[in-house]
Amino acid sequence: MKSFTAEQLKQLYLQFFKENNHAVIPSASLIPENDPTVLFTTAGMHPLVPYLLGQPHALGKRLTDVQKCIRTVDIDSVGDAFHLTFFEMLGNWSLGDYFKEGAIKMSHEFLTSPKWLGIDPNKLSVTVFAGDSDAPKDEESARAWQSLGIPKERIYFNPKDDNWWGPAGLTGPCGPCTEMFYDTGKEKCGPNCRPGCSCGKYCEIWNDVFMEYNKTKEGKYELLKQKNVDTGMGTERTSAVLQGKKNVYETDIFIPVMNKIKENSKNKENERSMKIIADHLKAATFILGDDKGIAPSNVDQGYIIRRLIRRSVRHCRLLGIENNFCKDIAEMIIDLYKEDYPELEKNKQFVLNEMDKEEIRFKETLDAGIKFFDRNINLNIEKKEISGHDAFLLFQSHGFPLEMTKELIKEKGIQTSADFDKEFDAEFQKHQELSRLASEKKFKSGLADYQEETIKLHTATHLLHAALRQILGEYVRQKGSNITVERLRFDFSHDKKMTSEELKKVEDLVNEQIKKALPITREEMTLEEARKKGAIAFFDEKYDKEKVSVYTISGFSKEVCSGPHVENTAVLGHFKILKEEASAAGIRRIKAIVAPEPEKKYMSH
Ligand code: ATP
Ligand code: MG
Repeated sequence: MKSFTAEQLKQLYLQFFKENNHAVIPSASLIPENDPTVLFTTAGMHPLVPYLLGQPHALGKRLTDVQKCIRTVDIDSVGDAFHLTFFEMLGNWSLGDYFKEGAIKMSHEFLTSPKWLGIDPNKLSVTVFAGDSDAPKDEESARAWQSLGIPKERIYFNPKDDNWWGPAGLTGPCGPCTEMFYDTGKEKCGPNCRPGCSCGKYCEIWNDVFMEYNKTKEGKYELLKQKNVDTGMGTERTSAVLQGKKNVYETDIFIPVMNKIKENSKNKENERSMKIIADHLKAATFILGDDKGIAPSNVDQGYIIRRLIRRSVRHCRLLGIENNFCKDIAEMIIDLYKEDYPELEKNKQFVLNEMDKEEIRFKETLDAGIKFFDRNINLNIEKKEISGHDAFLLFQSHGFPLEMTKELIKEKGIQTSADFDKEFDAEFQKHQELSRLASEKKFKSGLADYQEETIKLHTATHLLHAALRQILGEYVRQKGSNITVERLRFDFSHDKKMTSEELKKVEDLVNEQIKKALPITREEMTLEEARKKGAIAFFDEKYDKEKVSVYTISGFSKEVCSGPHVENTAVLGHFKILKEEASAAGIRRIKAIVAPEPEKKYMSH
């Protein structure tokens, strides 16, 4: 296999498709035009949706490009081998021209021909769509791969979850896809390890999507006027493969940035922090540098920029980088990419200014917390130890993350009190109790059953959490919860509006559990045991790892939680979702109630 730089890979890709009669189109903005359903362009197909739906494209039926993409859903994976927040997607499209066989043939040729990438075909495996009630099994793609020499054993059939693409919003063009994986040569992580496994053995480099359906508002899949092909190949991942690297950060396009971060680090072991900084600051540079002129803020894309920069600053501190560093990295990234993305050079001053301002702003917040921390330590100088109460004060008064406090403690060589976690937890509980009392006071009618109502809503929250994970997927995580006597409010990770169909399913599933009159039990165990038993536990830091309470709603939900809960779901009556809305980027919010009787007067969705 030949080795190519990322730049050479991009040029080769465009050249290959030009030779196959594709017109090269420019990368579109990272901020989608006329599409309020997504914050960012996450794939090359976004800007092409009107053409996939049948509008003729001025440059013809065969197109190719390199598209800059942002995937906020992958932020938490950043630091692994192959997931980035920002990446460049190579793509080719057929707008009602060639279809499965043609697309697969070109993909195979580009990947394996010695004239192009020359990847060893024995290292490739592919996945195809297994079929379901919406669309048939994709035998055609499987046959196409086989005819090109990919043996049956390396062709895997998968359901919609894995081998169906789109639509980007709730409605729009979509269809089955076939994904190409490179075997990195790593040991299998277990007997079920196969393409799609996240252990790092198989790296997904390219996806050919066959867009022949349009998903309607009613959730039906209608055949499109034309059969389209939409493909996407990750530049960074494919570069890693071609350069024989274990991960994207060791490729030519990342090396200068990674080196610079490392040079400035005191803690050179912590590679994960370096990777996060390199990824996040690149993403922030590209969003700031887009022609839309979006600055850090508390909403929409601005909020994402803020999150990316602040997280980078925190990781800089973990590495012992104290000087204002973000803009230096941004400048480096602009230099690396300015030829392909001239907007970066054009908006350079804006990018550097905003980057620097945000870094300084965040450090002020952090520093105020640190001063407070030091003062506290000085007061306790004889003890030379810090308690969970102190940590809670920091958290409460300065929004200083517990994780950061722990880092500081370690750095300064101070001891923590024996019951540090317990103390923190107790303060946390007490605080919640206090704010509960405060709101109780505010509640004019002074209901005697206040406590009872909120306990019911608390149990309903667990049912809702489990139901959302069943209906939407295991990735759903609690991001916040707030209960008043009137309603529960639950924030969770999910990146698009829920359909009325999904809301109804969730509501029905919760009501089913109420009807079943399930008992609720509480057990104590270590956090580790709780995990083993499959309990959901998300706010790890604040638990006492040696002893946690686990609440089980028989056969349906298991969560680490400090309670209290009702004894049986039957007392909840009827569960009703009042509202589903956006809370922050990538986070949705549900407000719901429980009522003795099903009532019709509640708002419907
Ligand atoms: P994965 O399952 O590995 O997250 P995906 O199925 O989400 O990948 P697609 O949506 O099919 O990926 O995107 C097409 C191609 O874009 C992938 O084959 C991969 O090469 C690249 N890609 C996708 N997500 C990322 C990412 N977060 N970072 C880098 N490259 C990516
Ligand atoms: Mg993905």
